[in-house]
Amino acid sequence: MSGKTLAGRKALITGGARGIGAGIAQRLAEAGAAVMIGDILADLGRQTADALARHGVKTGFVALDVTDDAQWENAVAATVATLGGYDILVNNAGIEITSLVADIQAADLRRMCEVNVVGVGLGMKHAFRAMRPGGPAGAGGAVVNISSVAATIAFPAIAGYSATKSAVDRLTRIAAMEAGKLGYGIRVNCVYPGLIPTEMGLQLATDIVANGLAADIESAVGSVIGQTPLGRLADVAEVADAVAFLCSNDARFITGAGVPVDGGMGM
Ligand code: NDP
Repeated sequence: MSGKTLAGRKALITGGARGIGAGIAQRLAEAGAAVMIGDILADLGRQTADALARHGVKTGFVALDVTDDAQWENAVAATVATLGGYDILVNNAGIEITSLVADIQAADLRRMCEVNVVGVGLGMKHAFRAMRPGGPAGAGGAVVNISSVAATIAFPAIAGYSATKSAVDRLTRIAAMEAGKLGYGIRVNCVYPGLIPTEMGLQLATDIVANGLAADIESAVGSVIGQTPLGRLADVAEVADAVAFLCSNDARFITGAGVPVDGGMGM
C-alpha cells in the first residue's frame, strides 16, 4: 500500500520516540498524516518529532506516561491543539520483563500490567471521549493497539508479558464492539508483530540465554526463525505498513480484528 491514504489525518503514537513507534510515526507521516509523538523519553521523543518536521511533517512531542490518566488528558489536548484535530491513536508503548514462571516477581508483573494493559485502556478511553460525536475532536477515527505474537503462542519466559498482550487483544475487541454499537464512528483493531530486533527484541534474546533456554543469542534468535514459516524476523516497516492500512479508509469495514505481522509464527 502506498500513496497519501492518510492525508489530513491527525495521529498520536505512544512510545513513539524510538523502535516500532518511531517507525509507525514515519510511515503514517509518509501517508500524509500529521503526527504527535507521546513518550516518557522526552529528549529522544523531541528528536524523533524534529526529524519528521525537517521533512515537512506537521508534528510535535508531548510527554506521556501512558499509565497516568491526567497525562493522557494533557496529551489529547496537546494533540488537538498542535495538529488541529485527533482521529488516529496508536497504542504502541509497551514493556517486556522476561521471567520463568518459577521466578515471577509481583512488582514486574504489576509494572507490565500498568504499562501494557492500563496504558492501552486509558488511551482508548481518552480517544473515545475526544473522537466521538460531541468530543473536542469529534470526527470519529481509528485506534490500533500493538499486541504481540506472544498473545497467540506459548513461548517460554514471557508468561507475564504474553498475558498482558492477550489482554490487549480482548480490550481491542470489546472497545471495537462498544464504539460500533454506540455510534462513535471509531474503528478499533490490533496487530500481533513477531520478534523484531529493536532494543526490546534484542533484550528478550539476551534474557532467553540468561534463563538457560538457549546457548547463545544466535540460537535464541534462530529458534524464533525456525518457528516462522517465512524464515526470518519481522521488520519495523512491515508492522508500520499494517498499522497504516488499518488506520486508512481501505480498512473502513474492519473493526475488532487482530492482524498478525509475524511471518506465520502464530498460525
Ligand atoms: P522499545 O522498548 O524499543 O520502545 C518502546 C517505547 O515505549 C520506548 O520509547 C519506551 O520508553 C516507551 N515507553 C515505555 N513505557 C512507557 C510508558 N509508560 N509511557 C509511554 N511510553 C513508554 O519497544 P519496541 O519498539 O520493540 O515495542 C513497541 C511495542 O511493540 C510494544 O508494545 C511491544 O510490546 C510491541 N512488540 C514488540 C516486539 C519486538 O520484538 N520488539 C514484538 C511484538 C510486539 P523506555 O525506553 O523509557 O521504556
